[in-house]
Amino acid sequence: MPRIGHGYDVHALDEGLPLVLGGVRIPHRKGCVAHSDGDVPVHALCDALLGAVALGDIGVHFPDSDPRYRGIDSLELLRHVAGLLGREGYSVCNVDLTIAAEQPRIGPYVDLMRERIASALGVGVGEVSVKATTTERLGFVGREEGIAAWAVALVERQTPVAEKI
Ligand SMILES: [Zn+2]
Repeated sequence: MPRIGHGYDVHALDEGLPLVLGGVRIPHRKGCVAHSDGDVPVHALCDALLGAVALGDIGVHFPDSDPRYRGIDSLELLRHVAGLLGREGYSVCNVDLTIAAEQPRIGPYVDLMRERIASALGVGVGEVSVKATTTERLGFVGREEGIAAWAVALVERQTPVAEKI
C-alpha cells in the first residue's frame, strides 16, 4: 500500500551566508540563516518522507540544540531519513519539490539538484522532480527575506520475499 507525505520549510535570508539548495551551492549575495547548511527544499523533503511513514519531523530527529548538526550538509540528513524508511520496510516511489525564491534564478541548477537528491535517496533521477517559482514579488519571498519550499513524497512498503512466491 503506498503512503504519501508532505513537507514545508522556510529559512530567512541574510547577507554573506552561503546559499545551498537541493544539495547545490548557488552563488548569491545572500544565504539561509540556519543551524545546518539551511537547505530549504531538502528539509521539506525530509519532513515529507518522515510524514509519509508517521515518524515525526526533522526537528525531532535532528534537533537544533545538537552541535553535531551545526553546518551539516543536509543531504546527510536526507540519507539518514532514507535509511530510517528502509528500516521500516519502505522504499521511495517518487518525490516532487517546489522552491519559492525571488532571487537568484533557480532554473539552471534544477537538474543538478535532482541528481544529488536522487543519489542521496538511492532512486533514479526520473523519480525526483524539482520545480522553482517566484511569488511575483509578494510576501517575504518576494521581498527576498526568505526562501520557502514544499515537498510531496510517495513511498511504498517493499514486498517481503515470502509474499512474492
Ligand atoms: Zn530547515
